[in-house]
Amino acid sequence: MDAMTDDNAGPIKTDALIIGAGPVGLFAVFELGLLDMKAHLIDILDKIGGQCAELYPEKPIYDIPGIPTVSGKALVDALMEQIKPFGPQFHLNEMVQTVERIGDPLFRVTTDRGRVFEAKVVVIAAGGGSFQPKRPPIKGIEPYEEKSVFYSVRRMEDFRGRRLLIVGGGDSALDWTLNLAPIASHLTLLHRRSDFRAAPDSVNKMMSLAGEGKIDLVFGQVASLEGENGQLSKAIVKGADGSEFHIACDAMLPFFGLTMKLGPVADWGLELKDQLLPVDTEAFETNVPGIFAIGDINWYPGKLKLILSGFHEGALMAQKAHRYVYPDKRLVFQYTTSSTSLQKKLGVS
Ligand SMILES: Cc1cc2nc3c(=O)[nH]c(=O)nc-3n(C[C@H](O)[C@H](O)[C@H](O)COP(=O)(O)OP(=O)(O)OC[C@H]3O[C@@H](n4cnc5c(N)ncnc54)[C@H](O)[C@@H]3O)c2cc1C
Repeated sequence: MDAMTDDNAGPIKTDALIIGAGPVGLFAVFELGLLDMKAHLIDILDKIGGQCAELYPEKPIYDIPGIPTVSGKALVDALMEQIKPFGPQFHLNEMVQTVERIGDPLFRVTTDRGRVFEAKVVVIAAGGGSFQPKRPPIKGIEPYEEKSVFYSVRRMEDFRGRRLLIVGGGDSALDWTLNLAPIASHLTLLHRRSDFRAAPDSVNKMMSLAGEGKIDLVFGQVASLEGENGQLSKAIVKGADGSEFHIACDAMLPFFGLTMKLGPVADWGLELKDQLLPVDTEAFETNVPGIFAIGDINWYPGKLKLILSGFHEGALMAQKAHRYVYPDKRLVFQYTTSSTSLQKKLGVS
C-alpha cells in the first residue's frame, strides 16, 4: 500500500505520537500541550474515548478526583473540551502497525492504512490493546451479531420497550440488568449457576428485582437461537436441571468478558511482561528511550488499572518527553492557577 500523508509530501511530523485515544491518551495531550508539545492520536476504534466510550458510555464513574459522578461518555466529552486549546489531530479507524527508531530519538510509525508519521516521542496509551468481547459458544450466533445480539450497550434507549435476554454472571451482566430493567418491556437474566462473580451489592439488588417479579432470573445456558434475517425471536435454553425450554426475546446481550489482544504492540521490540509494557515510575518510559507507555497498557510494581493512575502517568511522561523534544530548553515547573504563560496556552488569560 502506498504511504499516505497529510499533504502527500512526506510523513506527518509531530512532537508526540499517541497510540490510543482512550481517556489516558486524551489527557496526555493536555500535559504535553502545557509543555508546548503537539500531538497526533491514532485509534483502531471509530470513536474517541477507549473503554469509556466503547464499553460503558452511559455508566457512572465515581472515582475521578473532584468529580463525584460522571458517565463514561461525559468524561470523554470533558477531556475533549479540556484538550481543545492544543488542537490534537485524530486518526480513527486506524491501527498502528509498526514503530521503528530512526533517530536519537526519532520514530517512524506506520498504520494499517499506510499512513506514515515521524515523531520525536511515542506515547503508547493502548489500554488492553485491541479489546474484543468473548463470543459465547452458541452455534449460528454470527448472523444476529450487531442486529439483535450485542456485546456492549452503546445507547440504552435502543433497548426501551424491548424483551431483553442478558446472559452472564459478572459485573457487566449484573450492571446492565439493573440499568436496563426499568426500560425493557421484559428482562430475563440467564446464568449458568446460582453463584455470581459480580459485586455483592449488585447481586443483592438484582435478587430484589427478581423477588419483586420485575425481572426473571433463570439458570441454564443458551443452546441455540431462532429468528429471521438477524432478528432474534427466541433463545433455546438448556436448564441447569437438564430441561429444555425457550425464552422469547428481541435482543440478547451476552457478557462473557473481554479478550484483550495486545495486537501489533507485541512486535515493536519492546520488553513485555504478561502482555504489558514494563515502565519506570519516574517517567513511565519503556526500555526504549523516547517510547513511553501510560494507562492500562503499562506495568510497574503496585500498578492500578484506574483512569486516575493513567492521568498521573501522563503528567510525568510529559516532563521527560520535553527533554527529548526540547533538549536545549530548561523546564520550569508552573501551576495553571498562577502561570500567565500556561493560561495563555489554555486561552484563558
Ligand atoms: C465496565 C468497566 C467499568 C470501569 N469502571 C472504571 C471506574 O469506575 N474507574 C476507573 O478509574 N476505571 C474504570 N474502568 C477502567 C478504565 O476504563 C480503564 O482504566 C481506562 O479506560 C484505561 O484507559 P486507557 O486510555 O489506558 O486505555 P483504553 O481506554 O483501553 O483505550 C486504549 C485505546 O487504544 C486503542 N489501541 C490499542 N492498540 C492500538 C493500536 N495498535 N493502534 C491504534 N489504537 C490502538 C484501543 O482501540 C483503545 O481505544 C472500567 C472499565 C470497564 C471495562
